[in-house]
This record gives sequence, structure tokens and C-alpha cells, in this order.
Amino acid sequence: MQASQDHVVSIEYTLKNAQGEVLDSSGDQPFSYLHGAQNIVPGLEKALEGKAKGDQLEVNLKPEEGYGPRRDELMSTVDKSELDQIPNIEEGMQLQAQTPQGIQIFTVTEVTGDKVTLDGNHPLAGHDLNFSVKVIDIRKATSEELEHGHVHGPGGHHH
Ligand code: ZN
Repeated sequence: MQASQDHVVSIEYTLKNAQGEVLDSSGDQPFSYLHGAQNIVPGLEKALEGKAKGDQLEVNLKPEEGYGPRRDELMSTVDKSELDQIPNIEEGMQLQAQTPQGIQIFTVTEVTGDKVTLDGNHPLAGHDLNFSVKVIDIRKATSEELEHGHVHGPGGHHH
């Protein structure tokens, strides 16, 4: 069986940046995703297309094939008073906000006086991504998984 549209693919992976620092990994349990449903970054999904159980690959992605380039228009500065429901706001905190496009994560990049600078870019936007990947298993997705657009069960989204 090959990694292709409507299959659940389980992988072990390590993600490093251009400096070789580990940013993320699958950890103790393989990570499972629904192929063709944009569960993972586009370049990684493309590289896995047609791969089989046991295959290992190195995937080096430019930001455009990963989390996209950084976009300055996603930076904003707001008055601290607008965030007064959040106690002790400080640099490095991540905040969730409900927007018309869904839940968005903002990182607090600066707090000066009564102003707070928020960055709505994905933390990995603008970064080169270097994945080491091993395909652990591939199976057909269930109709419920296809309907939801994500994987159920071990390594998946919810149970
Ligand atoms: Zn579901």
C-alpha cells in the first residue's frame, strides 16, 4: 500500500531548522495524518506521495512549501487595556483569539508601556524545515475519517 489520497499514513519524524536545532518530533508514538486532506505542510505531503511502509526520507523545505513566508501585515500593536482579561501579559506568551477565519494563535513579541505587539504568523513561518521521516504504517481511511478530514484513533485527532 502506498501513501496516497484517502489513506492514513503513520510516520516517525524529526523536524530541524536550518541550524540543525530540533523543533519538533513525533515522540514516543508515530504521528498519523490523512493523506490529501492538508493535515500536514504541503511540501511534506508531496514528498510522501507514493511512499511505502518502511521508506525513509529526508525532506528539505523552503518556507513556501512549509508554513509560508512571514507576513508583516499579521503583526499588530494593541493597547494593553484591550487584553485586560489576560493577567501578567509578557513577551513570548501565546494567545488564542476567535477570528472570522477561526481560532488564531498570536505570539506576544513586545510589551512596552501600555502597548502590546502581537504576531499572528505561525511560529515556523519563514523558516526552512528539514524533516527526517520514516513511514511506519499505511491503511485506508474510514468513511468517518474522510468525512471529518482527519485521523481517528491512536496517533490521531480524537477518539
Ligand atoms: Zn473526527
